[in-house]
Amino acid sequence: MLNPVKNIVIVGGGTAGWLTAAIIASHHKKAAGQSVAVTLIESSDIPTIGVGEGTWPTLKNTLQDIGLKESDVFRECHAAFKQGAKFVDWVHGNGDFYYHPFTYPMGYGRIDLAPYVTNIENYAVEANFQHHVCEAGLAPRMLAEGEYKGTCNYAYHLDAGMLGKMLKEHCIEHLNVTHIVDTMQNVNLQDDGNIRSVSLNKCGEICGDLFVDCTGTAALLIGNSLKVPFKKVDDVLFNDSALAMQVPYVNENDPVATHTIATAQNTGWIWDIGLTHRRGVGHVYSSKFMTDEEAEANLRNYLGEAGEGIACRKITYESGHRERFWEKNCVAVGMAAGFVEPLEATAIMLIEISARYIAENLPPTQELMPITAKRFNQQMDYRWSRIIDFLKLHYMLTKRPEPYWQAHCDKKSIPESLQEDLAIWKYKGPTVSDFQGANELFPAASYQYVLYGMGFKPDFTAHGHLYQDHQQADRLIKRNEQLTEQMLQTLQPHRNFIHQWLSTTN
Ligand SMILES: Cc1cc2nc3c(=O)[nH]c(=O)nc-3n(C[C@H](O)[C@H](O)[C@H](O)COP(=O)(O)OP(=O)(O)OC[C@H]3O[C@@H](n4cnc5c(N)ncnc54)[C@H](O)[C@@H]3O)c2cc1C
Repeated sequence: MLNPVKNIVIVGGGTAGWLTAAIIASHHKKAAGQSVAVTLIESSDIPTIGVGEGTWPTLKNTLQDIGLKESDVFRECHAAFKQGAKFVDWVHGNGDFYYHPFTYPMGYGRIDLAPYVTNIENYAVEANFQHHVCEAGLAPRMLAEGEYKGTCNYAYHLDAGMLGKMLKEHCIEHLNVTHIVDTMQNVNLQDDGNIRSVSLNKCGEICGDLFVDCTGTAALLIGNSLKVPFKKVDDVLFNDSALAMQVPYVNENDPVATHTIATAQNTGWIWDIGLTHRRGVGHVYSSKFMTDEEAEANLRNYLGEAGEGIACRKITYESGHRERFWEKNCVAVGMAAGFVEPLEATAIMLIEISARYIAENLPPTQELMPITAKRFNQQMDYRWSRIIDFLKLHYMLTKRPEPYWQAHCDKKSIPESLQEDLAIWKYKGPTVSDFQGANELFPAASYQYVLYGMGFKPDFTAHGHLYQDHQQADRLIKRNEQLTEQMLQTLQPHRNFIHQWLSTTN
């Protein structure tokens, strides 16, 4: 072997750093008797970003793969089930709402129910039962179902700080990750441009074969040192600011929402995430369209009495991502790679995907690294462009009159790839065969829920002969009604379920 890749050094101990460490270390522990060493460096002086409480269903497999018990995650991270997102006021701003649930529509992949439902704006209601489960505030599974399983697909709402702490303990105690608490001062490059080592304040020089930049928006390795440019996308997705609050429940037994509530405002939107011990609520907006004071007034108006006396924390960010994510022997993961906005909780999902790629495709020699880097960059570039398109879809079909929303409808702000999708979907709607499989983050189902929820109506008559399977469609729509009835009767209220489940497991 020429120059082996054995020492992985991760700089940064936020969600990105610890999740990456856990995914790589657990994969190589299983696969090669711990022949790969993982070291994580984090500064005690530089705080983590402290937000990021909404997740995507991929996290179920990730947590299971790295060896965590689901009930432990719920206990330690005050977690709750997230079965999708409810978008309120996004179409007209008059109390309208629709769901993007995580469970596929009935008949998905075999028959597209969109041409058959009675009201396409109610697609999620007629084609799937999870809308009703969320509206009724029910848990996604029954007690008899095991950990990480569920009648309804789900992700989590969890306390990001506690998740980081839990991952840290797991990495150190069970996955042999070496932990260094110190602040990085310098990145030391070799003549060929690869990183030789990082110099720390107290601990001196730490060498590595592969460095993972998890330093957050500072992007100290990939940006500051390796000078990979940042590609802004604020001409497509305008938000650049957020105000975040932690809001206690009025009564400790108040219901916990089992979906993220995303409520559109005159500019931007408010997220409302229910954990078991508090809510995480925040307003994300564009500073070009609204002042911080106006945003705070929106947020306080939304919260009413529940927000009285609670301070909010301001966070700013640039909407965009690196032009390349893997450069020389350095990969950026998390905020260091980029961030566009919190809608649909794509950031933690991308951390999981990036870390899994590194773990599974770790080149055995330095000489192979350029090929791995090139492939990783191609995949991630595609994924970022799909994320940007999918998020833009939430905005561009609005009928809201305010300047922020109208600017989102301006054709100049809509990526060409999305304009092409919309042109095709005008006559058939999104279907499974439109999508590229393994590299897609969002399935056709997600596009259907959002597109139809936003009031987009394809003209199915152009190929009307394809939509004559009324018998099967009616049977599935009826079956959905029966399943809905069954779930409403058998599933427990969300908070009761979590309480009962955790009191019967240890
Ligand atoms: C408003 C907002 C809402 C969001 N909501 C969601 C959401 O609901 N769902 C979701 O998936 N994502 C969300 N995100 C994104 C999510 O918060 C991040 O992707 C996630 O927290 C990962 O952050 P990070 O670990 O990359 O960075 P950070 O949390 O910033 O961590 C950076 C780490 O680097 C360390 N560090 C920095 N400099 C040095 C140095 N010199 N030496 C040593 N260590 C150093 C710090 O100490 C810290 O440990 C949101 C982001 C924002 C801005």
